[in-house]
Amino acid sequence: MANPDSLQRFTFDNSHVRGELVGLNQTLKDIFARQSYPEAVNNLLGELLAAAALLSATVKIDGLLTLQVQSNGPLRILLAETSHDGKLRGIARMDAEQDIEDGQLLGTEGQLVITIDPTKGRRYQGIVSLEGDNLAKCLEGYFKQSEQLATRLWLSCEGQVAAGFLLQELPALGEVQEEMEVDADAWTRLTCIADTVRDDELLHLDNSQLLHRLYHEEPLRLFADEGLKFSCSCSKARLSTALDQMGYEQCQEIIDEQQKIRADCQFCGQHYSFDQGDVKGLFPLESAKASGQSH
Ligand SMILES: [Zn+2]
Repeated sequence: MANPDSLQRFTFDNSHVRGELVGLNQTLKDIFARQSYPEAVNNLLGELLAAAALLSATVKIDGLLTLQVQSNGPLRILLAETSHDGKLRGIARMDAEQDIEDGQLLGTEGQLVITIDPTKGRRYQGIVSLEGDNLAKCLEGYFKQSEQLATRLWLSCEGQVAAGFLLQELPALGEVQEEMEVDADAWTRLTCIADTVRDDELLHLDNSQLLHRLYHEEPLRLFADEGLKFSCSCSKARLSTALDQMGYEQCQEIIDEQQKIRADCQFCGQHYSFDQGDVKGLFPLESAKASGQSH
């Protein structure tokens, strides 16, 4: 199968096109084991996770890249997040399960939100309309709309294997301009060949087999692969932002009634609990004011 749990770059010797290949297996097992989504939802989540990994390879930043699908269909939200060091996590939110089995998952209207959140620097967000369940088409639309480098994607997920493949046209450099002109149709040729790839090939051939099947006539270079794995970035500090949004009064009400506020991470199921001291720490002004009033 596609090299499991890895991201691998390749470049063509004679054209300004680069590619990325992604395969996910154990990563998906770990993510799916923490949830119980219908198979159709798992398949779409697998594709979104593969897409997130591919996109993260095209933006070289320290930080997080998130793809979030929002729709008016039975599948309300689908989210895949990846970090620059290959950690992935994902989640789905849906209406009742029987609705999922029948019609189209993503309904008639929806959007895909791409968020890039660097450790240092400003957060970037791009939004593109959904085109049915075809995430690859939708992401290609995003690159087009935001006037970035021409980019094509192929994604597939079945069972606990997801695979994906991206081609991106790089800007021509001055000194090799002449060479470029000789091979002016490279982008069209390489993407047309990629369009012949079948899902079973994408999922079941390893990276060198796949590239040989598609591009045995094109000299190319395959780089060392980078590992990918499931890992959740949740922490008590991160979950406390949810409490912050609830506000002091509601938090204090729960503490008064139940002594603790319990919150579980939606991605990995980790339990967290917050006590009176935590609430005081989160809302120092309100807490001081409230204790002042009670005396
Ligand atoms: Zn977590």
